[in-house]
Amino acid sequence: MKHIDSYNFSGKRALIRVDFNVPLNEKFEITDDNRIRAAIPTIKKITGSGGASVIVSHLGRPAGSYDIKYSLKHIVNHLSELTGKKVKFGPDCIGDETLRLAKNLKPGEILLLENLRFCKSETKGDREFAKKLASLADVYVNDAFGTAHRAHASTSCVAEYFGEEKMFGYLMEKELESMDKVLHKAEKPFTTIMGGAKVSEKILIIENLLDQVDNLIIGGGLAYTFIKAGGGKTGSSSVEEDRLEIATNLISMAKEKGVNLLLPEDNLIADKLSNDANTKEVPIDEIPDGWMGLDIGIKSIEKFRSVIEKSQTVLWNGPLGVFEIPKFERGTKSIAKAISEATLNGAFTLIGGGDSVGAIKKYKLEDKVSFVSTGGGAMLEYMEGKLLPGIEAIRGS
Ligand code: AMP
Repeated sequence: MKHIDSYNFSGKRALIRVDFNVPLNEKFEITDDNRIRAAIPTIKKITGSGGASVIVSHLGRPAGSYDIKYSLKHIVNHLSELTGKKVKFGPDCIGDETLRLAKNLKPGEILLLENLRFCKSETKGDREFAKKLASLADVYVNDAFGTAHRAHASTSCVAEYFGEEKMFGYLMEKELESMDKVLHKAEKPFTTIMGGAKVSEKILIIENLLDQVDNLIIGGGLAYTFIKAGGGKTGSSSVEEDRLEIATNLISMAKEKGVNLLLPEDNLIADKLSNDANTKEVPIDEIPDGWMGLDIGIKSIEKFRSVIEKSQTVLWNGPLGVFEIPKFERGTKSIAKAISEATLNGAFTLIGGGDSVGAIKKYKLEDKVSFVSTGGGAMLEYMEGKLLPGIEAIRGS
């Protein structure tokens, strides 16, 4: 494995796997270009130091054949603007014509190839397909953190055809550095805030973090399974009946390991999931039948805020309430604010996985935290302690 900063790209062609899986509207206009912007430093580094870039990505979930809705040609003009270069487009990702386009690239030029997932071989992790991709370049740069948990041809298999000529791009390096800092080098006190819809999706990550964290704050829908497991009345709140035992076990594991587990004390309950619902604030374990908890209450906000503001490391995954509906967004908004204040006081704060990223953006605080991960599923799996194929393919010899 090589390092992007010390590698000499002069006269070389680099196959750069990026994640340009951006949302497009019905006119095929990009509605959020964050993922493209995130890959620009890597592309600029390569083209600016005399290398040529052959860029590959997926977009959406096409059924393994051409679909104009998912064509990467919609990205070309914007990529040209962001890189300041006239980006060329290759209407296929392999084949003689693609090889010719790649070989004709001059130093500093950029070629964007068509959606990898128009070929079924990509998601199957087909070796022959990976070999053909590899034939397009001299060096492989993986900057697609969002797909690092997939063993696809372009994210993992392709690496083996480059020998040692493989490396992470800047985005990937930043993602790994941020996650490793939290997982292995967290400054104390270290607080993790877990929210979102379901305990079942968060068990492995909670278990993996219990050895590291000082404070574990649990909010959002998943809190109710813990409250019910402790004998509380949860009304019609979202409870996973088949996870009550696991919640009880997590509570005792936290106790054994000396982790300060904080559940909400109070919550905002509603008679329906709507902005015109009737609401009231009650203790979290006293929810009447027919009512459901949709946000944390004011006492919980204050309690959580004071813990967050004293922390040196904060990891946040999942909203504290149904923040998509304004009536139930106060908890999530206040916690997002508390995290940005902790950052201002010197804490390292990492936001990632699922809807907490949506929330931090909604409140325009993404520049006021240390790092917002671009990979939902990939980040969760890494934090669960799993080895990700896209990362191992580069790190392994
Ligand atoms: P996740 O993808 O795990 O981060 O889950 C995000 C979803 O959890 C969001 O759509 C929230 O609306 C939902 N959520 C948060 N709090 C609650 C709650 N108290 N009850 C039901 N859903 C919730």
